[in-house]
Amino acid sequence: MIWIRCLAYAWASPYTLLGLAIGLALRGQVRLVAGVLEIQGPGVAWLLVRLPVRAAAMTLGHTVLGQNRRQLERTRRHERVHVAQFERWGVLMGPAYLLASLYQPLRGRHYYRDNPFEVEAYAVEMKPLKKDDTEQTNNRVR
Ligand SMILES: [Zn+2]
Repeated sequence: MIWIRCLAYAWASPYTLLGLAIGLALRGQVRLVAGVLEIQGPGVAWLLVRLPVRAAAMTLGHTVLGQNRRQLERTRRHERVHVAQFERWGVLMGPAYLLASLYQPLRGRHYYRDNPFEVEAYAVEMKPLKKDDTEQTNNRVR
């Protein structure tokens, strides 16, 4: 279903373009990994440590900004969940994520750790890797 994949890319494209623009403005190095643009470098790291939640990496559509290549590899499973979320939510992802973060403190919860988008990503990140997962990821990384 190639057309569904094309729709997913188009639906998330405003964020992908934003991530690419930020990464290039910060002189990041761009690499295509399994259909996702991974951008890293000192400029990107400078930005990520100044976010409200200090981040090793951050996803915008089909772009993942990372402090460096090692951090991109370490956070890949987590960030790919966010890529899938951008594919589902598209242009609504930013407001949905923000509202979810703002709502959590009203329930006495943490704005980041209890955000359902993060809960989903951490659940996948913590799941033990199956042999097929490792091979699939390695085969698609160039
Ligand atoms: Zn996350």
